[in-house]
Amino acid sequence: MPIRPENRDRYPTDWPAISERIRFDRAGGRCECRGECGRPLLHLDVDDRCRNVHGQPAYGTGSKVVLTTAHLDHTPEHCADDNLKAMCQGCHLHYDRGHHAETRAATRRAEAAALAGLFDLEVHR
Ligand SMILES: [Zn+2]
Ligand SMILES: [Zn+2]
Repeated sequence: MPIRPENRDRYPTDWPAISERIRFDRAGGRCECRGECGRPLLHLDVDDRCRNVHGQPAYGTGSKVVLTTAHLDHTPEHCADDNLKAMCQGCHLHYDRGHHAETRAATRRAEAAALAGLFDLEVHR
């Protein structure tokens, strides 16, 4: 995922080297997702790891895989190896979407509760 301008200062200066090491030395160019992204488990191979390999056609969509490095806690400053995971763009996007959706989910739950309350009123009247 592209680094958003407002977050650029939060990445260490050697981030490109860190990201490179995680994606290619550790992950061997293959997505390290084991289902953390929340997508259907079909995208995992028999070894329970995402099938997508950098530069190859992506499983499902066929578009070229671009391996990225995800921060599991969504904090760019935290660059310990165990906080980093090489992820294909599909997994990374989905993983981040879950994070961004947390606040939206809270709003939705409140709305749903309000709606259920309304509905309740309607049926019992
Ligand atoms: Zn993946
Ligand atoms: Zn995944």
